[in-house]
Amino acid sequence: MSIKYEPVIGLEVHIQLNTKTKMFCGCSNLANDNEPNSVVCPVCFGMPGTLPVTNKQAVFKTLLFARAVGAKISDNWNFERKNYFYPDLPKGYQITSSTNPPALGGEIRVAAGQDGGQFSVALHHLHLEEDAGKLLHGKGGYSFVDLNRCGTPLIEMVTEPVIKTPTEAKLMLKELQILVRHLGVSDADMEKGHMRCDANVSLRSVGEMKLGKKVEVKNLNSFRMVERALNHEISRQELLLEKGEEIVQETRGWDDAKGVTLSQRNKEDSQDYRYMPDPDLPPICRLIVEEFSDENLKKQMPELPQVISSRLQSDFSLTVTQANQCVGDINFQELVVGVLTKVTKDNETAKSLLFGDLLRIVNEKGLLFSDLKLTSDDLIEIVKLKDDGKITQQLIKTNLESLMTGKITIIDLKKHGEISTAVDIDAIVKEVLLQSIKAVEQYKAGDVKVLGFLVGQAMAKSKGVANPQIVNEKLKSHLDQ
Ligand SMILES: [Zn+2]
Repeated sequence: MSIKYEPVIGLEVHIQLNTKTKMFCGCSNLANDNEPNSVVCPVCFGMPGTLPVTNKQAVFKTLLFARAVGAKISDNWNFERKNYFYPDLPKGYQITSSTNPPALGGEIRVAAGQDGGQFSVALHHLHLEEDAGKLLHGKGGYSFVDLNRCGTPLIEMVTEPVIKTPTEAKLMLKELQILVRHLGVSDADMEKGHMRCDANVSLRSVGEMKLGKKVEVKNLNSFRMVERALNHEISRQELLLEKGEEIVQETRGWDDAKGVTLSQRNKEDSQDYRYMPDPDLPPICRLIVEEFSDENLKKQMPELPQVISSRLQSDFSLTVTQANQCVGDINFQELVVGVLTKVTKDNETAKSLLFGDLLRIVNEKGLLFSDLKLTSDDLIEIVKLKDDGKITQQLIKTNLESLMTGKITIIDLKKHGEISTAVDIDAIVKEVLLQSIKAVEQYKAGDVKVLGFLVGQAMAKSKGVANPQIVNEKLKSHLDQ
C-alpha cells in the first residue's frame, strides 16, 4: 500500500435471519435446497389483493442484535417500499426500513486486530428488510426465476466509513459472524449466502479529512473474497490517482476467477427508488409490544462472546485466539472447558491437543464438533496417557482422526500404546546399535551428543510410535554397560 494515500472502507452487510417463516408470510424460511418456486405463496409473488403480515420473531431478532451491538433502538419505526423493477422481485418494490430504521449507531468490537490489539467499527444504522428471489442464467440465453428466497428476512447493517484495511474488514466480519451465531439470530454461513457484503471504498491523501470519491464493490460472499476484492480495488484506485486520473463514482462487481473488480454501472444510471411508507403494514410501536421491551431484550440476552472470551482467557490462561476459537463454536467451547477444568491450568499437552491436532482435523475434514465421538473424559484420558509416558505424541497424531470419528476407541489406543512402549523397543534398539558402530564408538569415547542421533534412528525404525523416553533409557543402559 502506498504511503501517499490511505483507504477508507465502509461495509453494508446483509444478515439473513434464521426465523421459522419468511418476513411477511407463513412460507418456510428454510428453503435453501428446495425445488425452485416450491416454497412460495401469493404474498411472495406480490399478487394483487394479498396483504403482508409482519413476522414478530424477525423484529425481535433484529432488536436483540441491535441491543447486543449497543445501537440506539427506535421506539417507533415503519416499513417502506423501495420501488424498482427486476424479474427477481415480481411485486415491483422491496419492503425495507432504511429511512426510519429500527436502530441507529452501535459498534462491532473486534477482540484481536492485525497487530493483536482491539479495535471497533462504528455502525451507522441497522434496518430490517425482505430479500428478493434469485435469477439462474441458463444455457441458450434463457434465465430462470426462483422465488424461494423472496421474502426472507434480512438485517442490513451499515457501518460508518471507518475501516482502514481489507484485513480489518475481514476480521470485523468474522467477529460479526461469531456474534450473530451466538445470539441465535442467523446461521451466518457466508458460503450459503446467509451473510453477504457490499463494500464502499475510497482513497484520500494521508492527512486529508475529506473522503475521496467512493466506489461500491458488490456481492462479496466469503471472507477471502472480501479481502482480495478490497486489496485489488485499493490498488486500482491508487494507480489511477498516481497517473493523475479521476476516480469514477460507480458500482463494480468482483470477478473472483480473474481477481479483478469490473464496472457495472455509474452514478448517472442510479435509480430514484421513490421510497414511501408501506400502507399495508402498521408502524412498529415498540413500547406496546411486551417482547420488544428493553426489559425483555435484557432478559433474553445471552452472555456476549467477548465477555466469555475474557473469562476463558483468565480462567484457563488461553490466548485471545484460543479463547475466540472457543467462543465461535459452543460444542468446542464445552469440550475445552470440560477438559481444562480437570487438568492443571498450564497443561500444555491438553492445550496442544485441543487447539492443535483436534481443531486442525475438524477444519481439514469439515467435521462438526457436535458429531465427534470423543468426549472430554476421553480427551482427559489421552492427556494422562501421554503425560505418564504410556503413549507418544506421534501415536496420538496417527490415531486421533479415527478416535474422533469413532473408528477406534480409547481402549484400542491404549493397546497401541502398550505395543509401542513394550514389545518392539528392545529389538529395535539392538538393531540400531549393530547398524551404527561408528556412533557407538563416538559415544564410548565421550561424545554423549550422538545419543540423540541414535534415538532418532530408533524412532524412525518404529515409524514414530515408540515412546522416545523409553528408547532413550534403553539405549543408554546398553551403551553404559
Ligand atoms: Zn410466502
